[in-house]
This record gives sequence, C-alpha cells and structure tokens, in this order.
Amino acid sequence: MNKFFVDDTVNEDCKRQALGIYLHFPFCRRKCDYCDFYSVVPSKPWQIEEYVRALIGNVSEICSADVEDYLVDSIFFGGGTPSLLSPGQMNRIIVALSQKFRLSGDCEITLESNPATLTPDSLCQYRRAGVNRLSIGLQSANEGELCELSRIHTPKDFLLAFHQAREAGFDNINIDLMYGIPGQTFDSFMRSLDFAVGLNPEHLSVYGLRIEAGTPLGARDPSTYVLPSEEVECRMYLACVDSLKKLGYNHYEISNFSKPGRECRHNSKYWNCEPYIGLGTSAHSYFNNVRYSYVSDIEVYCAGILSGLPHSELMAEYSEITPDDREREYIMLRLRLSEGICVRRFAKLFGRDFERIYAPRLAPYIKEGLVYLSGSRYALTPDGMLVSNSILCDLIDF
Ligand code: SF4
Repeated sequence: MNKFFVDDTVNEDCKRQALGIYLHFPFCRRKCDYCDFYSVVPSKPWQIEEYVRALIGNVSEICSADVEDYLVDSIFFGGGTPSLLSPGQMNRIIVALSQKFRLSGDCEITLESNPATLTPDSLCQYRRAGVNRLSIGLQSANEGELCELSRIHTPKDFLLAFHQAREAGFDNINIDLMYGIPGQTFDSFMRSLDFAVGLNPEHLSVYGLRIEAGTPLGARDPSTYVLPSEEVECRMYLACVDSLKKLGYNHYEISNFSKPGRECRHNSKYWNCEPYIGLGTSAHSYFNNVRYSYVSDIEVYCAGILSGLPHSELMAEYSEITPDDREREYIMLRLRLSEGICVRRFAKLFGRDFERIYAPRLAPYIKEGLVYLSGSRYALTPDGMLVSNSILCDLIDF
C-alpha cells in the first residue's frame, strides 16, 4: 500500500462519509475539432508547472475542519489531457491531497489519458504515484474517423499504450469510444467496438458525438462531411448495448459498461448525488448542499490562487441546493443508471410518494417500452436511454 493511504478497515473511518475529489487539468497538446471542454494548448513552457502550483495551493487552502469528517475514496484527474502532467507533478498533487484529506486504503485514483502522451516509463511512474485506474481515449479504431475528429493518435498508438499500461500493472482500464463520427458507418463502428473489447478492458464508455456550436466542427460547412443518420446511430447504440451485455459487461449507466465490480466509483458519485470537491479552473463541486464551480479561465484562476485571493472571488457559480432542486437532480441523475429509482428509497430520502407524483407521467413511456417497472424500481430501457433527455424533460417541470 502506498504510504499516503490509510487502512480504512479502522473502525473510526467507517463512520466517515465518502468523498470524491475531481482535479481539472485544462491543457491539451492540440485541440480536437469537436471538443467543447475547457482546455487549451499551453501558451508558454512553464504554464503547466504554474497550474500545478496553483492546484496544490487550491488544495492547501481548503479548511481542514470542513473535510475532517470525510474519507476520500476516489480521485479523478480529468481534462483536458492530464496525462501531460509529468509523474513528478502528479506525485506532488497526490501528496498534497494526502496531507489535506484522509484517503481510503482502496482509494480509486483515475487518470484520463490520450494514448499519444503515454510512455512505458510515465505509466510505471504514475502507477507508483498511486494512480490505479487509467482511462484511455480511443474514440475509434478507424484512422480516417480519427482524422475527422483531429485526434493526435492513431489506432496503433492506442494499442501500444494499452499493452504498455497492462505491463505497468494497470488492471483497471477504461476505453472511451464514440459513435456518430463523420464518415462512420454501422460496420466501422462495430469494428471499433470489436477492437476495443478484444483487449478485454474492465470498463468502456461509449458516447454519441454531439456537434457543438463554437467548435471548429460546429463551424464547418455541413456539406463537407457526412454524418451517420439518426436511425444508424440508434442501431449503433443498441447493438453496442446488446453485444457488451453478451460479453458480460454490466450496462450500469446510459453510456457506461463495466465488468462486475468495476463500475467507475468516481463518476458513480455524480449519478448517486454523493458529495465531491472539484479543484482547478472550471471544476464543479457538490459539497455541504452547495453546488459551485471555479472560473473557466486559467490565467484568472492561477493568478487568483497564487496571490491568495479568497476562493469566493474565483467562483463562477455558487448555489445552495433547495429540497426541490435535490429531488429534481436525484430523478434526472438516477434515471441515467440502469438501477433507476426505487420508490421506497425515494420515500425515505424525500418523504414523498414517487408513484403518486410521477407514475401518471411515466405511464405512456412504459406503454411505449421506453421505461419499465420492476418490483419497486422504475428504470429506462435501452430504447428509453436513447431518448432520455426528452423523457426527463417531460418528467420534471422545468
Ligand atoms: S484531447 Fe480531449 S479534452 Fe483535449 S481537445 Fe481532444 S477531446 Fe478535448
């Protein structure tokens, strides 16, 4: 066990509430044409190191009394491309976290990565620093499709990185895949899926590409590329759900599949409305019944943290969650999960009768085969997951 972690079999820790930590790393080697996450190409050589110093400053400024009753059981380095952090920088951040928070002995530490940025040496050192879950962005195993997305890696780079990660001791790996890519066909998507499952990863995340305004792809003349039709995209998703289930993957969330017991602990916190603290520019938190986020501006964030500005001045949002908000969020997030909503648990949490309030609105969807009721649980079917947004909008008065 790494020296930073505590043995959480100690009784006292059992009483602590679990907490997740998200660290946003806003740099990429090159911006992908479809991406609307907050990330930039570093504008100066020392910008990453400056950001690391700010992140560590952000951690050390957290009031210890606010977090002493919590046990951190997940840390997630997301971005951006956090695999651009050197292992030494990663280690410093994890040490800083271990000095501020109590980390559980089995704390899940995930690193999102781009295969073109990984080396055998960096993988071994990340592992040594405590990273025990790796998420690698493949998106597609088709070179032409990767070019359409302007990804910086090839399928070959991915394959190499995946094997090197296994050799470095990563036994919990997620692969990101995408459907709905320009030029993609049903068959080419299925070939990418076969390529990914052929590697026997513990987890797969499969997302549909959304063309967002404000991205280079969004600004492109639509006559210059061909997207799969909506009907083909639906077939891709349903075939993916079907084949992954047959291979023993648990379809536990709309876009996420895992081997038994390998669900992403960190992301599950979001869907279960559990607390997490986000650190870094544009990072979101849900803690002590408040949702807040830091400004999406690297320069403002770094200058503010490094000059000791109160954190409240670096917030982009800060809102206390009312009981109504909590109920709406719970419904929206829980229905993303295959487990769905248990009416008994709902009654315990909110003191309200889910069936009396929502069953009349769900009835037409049950009839259409988009929602099902099993015992005391309401959940979306795979067809329902395809149209989850419209069902949720209908269910909850916005
Ligand atoms: S690597 Fe990921 S975060 Fe970076 S630009 Fe591409 S999609 Fe966006």
